[in-house]
Amino acid sequence: METNQKPIIGIVSPCYNEELVLNETSAQLNEIIKDLVARNSISEKSFVVFIDDGSKDKTWHIIEEKASQLTHVKGLKLAGNVGHQKALLAGLLTFKDEADALISIDADLQDDVRVIEEMILKFKSGTDVVYGVRKERKTDTFFKRNTALLFYKLMNMMKVNVVHNHADYRLCSNRVLKALAEFGEVNLFLRGIIPSIGFSNDVVYYDRLERFAGESKYPFRKMAAFAWNGVTSFSNYPLKLVTIIGFAIFFLCLIMTGYALFSLYNGNVVPGWLSTVLPMYFLGGVQLFCFGILGEYIGKIYSEVKQRPRYFIDKRVD
Ligand code: UDP
Ligand code: MG
Repeated sequence: METNQKPIIGIVSPCYNEELVLNETSAQLNEIIKDLVARNSISEKSFVVFIDDGSKDKTWHIIEEKASQLTHVKGLKLAGNVGHQKALLAGLLTFKDEADALISIDADLQDDVRVIEEMILKFKSGTDVVYGVRKERKTDTFFKRNTALLFYKLMNMMKVNVVHNHADYRLCSNRVLKALAEFGEVNLFLRGIIPSIGFSNDVVYYDRLERFAGESKYPFRKMAAFAWNGVTSFSNYPLKLVTIIGFAIFFLCLIMTGYALFSLYNGNVVPGWLSTVLPMYFLGGVQLFCFGILGEYIGKIYSEVKQRPRYFIDKRVD
């Protein structure tokens, strides 16, 4: 390892079917490293590594080509598609001992690469985690903006500690990454895990740009699953909610029973189909809902106790 004044910086970028953007992304990131090395700001051992998350297009082919053409570019190929979070984890854990700090960034150039230098400066002055925080979401669709807003609200409500408007664009020092390596979770939610590690942190602000090319690999279904995973990995609040709902229903039923008995006593019992059938459906529904939440957690326990490996590495090019 070099002195702190010329640290080795690694940029880690997970890619899934990104053949349309990789030429541009590798050129830009390589240029940034080259420039910072030339200005004596970082070590010449600094690098950019693309993690191929089991892409079905020419992504790996392009990564190999770039690794041979560009001085600072490396590649890591995973054995199959494991999803953004695990692909990123694979990159961070594989390269953590080869750098003083790693910066994670999406491959589609939506995270403004111009703040990388600022992140590095903050790291050099002693900050362990530097979060990239989105200033503007003008280029995101109305839908994406609002679902994102809902996501942070939900996290807040469920008492999950996440940095507002921060996605996975961040710098982590070597000791943060060492701490990260100790988390053995299969259901990974890095945005929750990193803040929970502690150490000194800071933020840099950037404008969220348009995707350079290609399409988002995060349709609504995957985003909802991601948010739900975030909640259930970090909070038992939904379980508490079940208890509260259960109690409220029980209380309502008590009142209804009282009312029925009162009506019976007064002799005006109506052959009430509604009052019999409605609560039945209602309670059935509530019970299923509660079982569902319990089931989610049990499913999570199941996948955690199996302790399966989270990814396999197929190849590496330097
Ligand atoms: N990605 C990945 N594995 C996947 C899906 C996505 O490695 O299964 C990568 C993708 O190539 C990109 C990053 O994760 O670099 C973010 O994905 P995307 O841009 O599609 O998400 P969005 O920005 O729309 O939320
Ligand atoms: Mg994107």
